[in-house]
Amino acid sequence: MNESLKAMADAATAAIAYRDAVAGAAHTPVADYATIRAAFAAPTPEEGGDPQEIIAELIERASPGIRAQTGPRFFGWVIGNSHPTGVAADWLASAWGQNAANTLAAPSASAIEDIAAGWLLDLLGLPGDASVGFVTGATVANFVCLAAARSAVLEKVGWDVEADGLFGAPPITVLIGADAHATVYSGLKYLGLGAKRVQTVESDSLGRILPDAFQRALNDATGPVIAIAQAGQINTGVCDPFAEIAPMARAAGAWLHVDGAFGLWAQAAPDRAPLTAGVELADSWATDGHKWLQTPYDSGFAIVRDSAAHARAMAISASYLPPAEGAERDPSTFVPELSRRARGFATWAMIRQLGRAGIADMVEHHCRIAAHMAQRLDAETGITLVAPVSLNQFMVRFGDGADADRLTLATIKRVQDDAIAFLGGAQWRGDWVMRCSVSSVATTMAAADTSVDAIIAAWRWVEQEMTCPVT
Ligand SMILES: *Cc1c(COP(=O)(O)O)cnc(C)c1O
Repeated sequence: MNESLKAMADAATAAIAYRDAVAGAAHTPVADYATIRAAFAAPTPEEGGDPQEIIAELIERASPGIRAQTGPRFFGWVIGNSHPTGVAADWLASAWGQNAANTLAAPSASAIEDIAAGWLLDLLGLPGDASVGFVTGATVANFVCLAAARSAVLEKVGWDVEADGLFGAPPITVLIGADAHATVYSGLKYLGLGAKRVQTVESDSLGRILPDAFQRALNDATGPVIAIAQAGQINTGVCDPFAEIAPMARAAGAWLHVDGAFGLWAQAAPDRAPLTAGVELADSWATDGHKWLQTPYDSGFAIVRDSAAHARAMAISASYLPPAEGAERDPSTFVPELSRRARGFATWAMIRQLGRAGIADMVEHHCRIAAHMAQRLDAETGITLVAPVSLNQFMVRFGDGADADRLTLATIKRVQDDAIAFLGGAQWRGDWVMRCSVSSVATTMAAADTSVDAIIAAWRWVEQEMTCPVT
């Protein structure tokens, strides 16, 4: 075996040892950015090096700054587990070195995407003939879906946006829920639709679009309309009332896009599916693999009912590439990239790993864990659950009145410094909260209880230190 191949074995050995240890390890404090940057800082290498030494150096210098995102007590953001089976499949994607651009270059990578796409549509209860682009995450999935939307609504009024661009095109009205995710605005920005040139639709106290307000906005809109809803608000976990708003959008001839980065997976869990009832009536859906499906990073899916609009918006043609038409599905037809990672391997492996029943149980289990943690925290003096828990996300606030922002931020810092669990902060309706996302297959009820104990201990400490009456 040559030195490069030995380096692959070294990396695998180190990776396995890391995952074995992190499963039970505390969220120990990690070295910060500046420390790690200093550890790597060096002049540009003039000469090449030894493969095994390079990998050993990478492991040694990077390890102190590797946050345990795959650990059982990580609730910081909606981050799945990078499940070992998905990682193993992803290793092969790298080792096989497949450029998953088209069926000729990469028959296996292309075929497995097609199969995994069918499984995804089945699991998510979406139309079986919708097209699926395997992208880096929900940010790009939102962008791709909105590009298809832009193409379709302008085609209906006789404008070819792919050929002629937006200058001189009939103006598109974009309706968006008031509590949409920041990345949807990025998609609008990339597409020339404007992050600010939107009409915001009023939402309720939990962040759900109000159907009456949605209907009024549709009535007031002139010309082509794209409406953007979401499954899974990032702070409250709520889903928009699709069964009400999707028929309204359809009747008005508007394209309805759903950002369902994590929340769309409620569809795969029968007990939670009522939350997303009617979502299948939309025209496009963005979701992630690296959140609730537990694939390694990066993995997202852009799903579009009108596959012709999807292909029109994304397909790349050149004389040296096979034509995009035909029965065979080229991976690049539905994504912005030509050369790309073979993400289908990990997606296929994770669906095989969990199965329909495993995904349903996992989603349900995470929702139960979230409800349990929220209920325990809310029962403590001085800790308030900010909104009811319907899915896997919840928020708590510490202390009362004018001091609550300061005490909440201090408690978050204390929890992070204690490093037993990892949680972060967010602002909701102008107030600071501690936000909890339960989305890793590594998280057990016992890990959740240990984390709640740590949060309560941190709060007691903050309460003691920071709210002493002035004497
Ligand atoms: C995470 C998230 C996104 C962005 O997804 P990425 O995978 O980070 O690109 C978009 N919308 C919602 C609701 C999310 O939770």
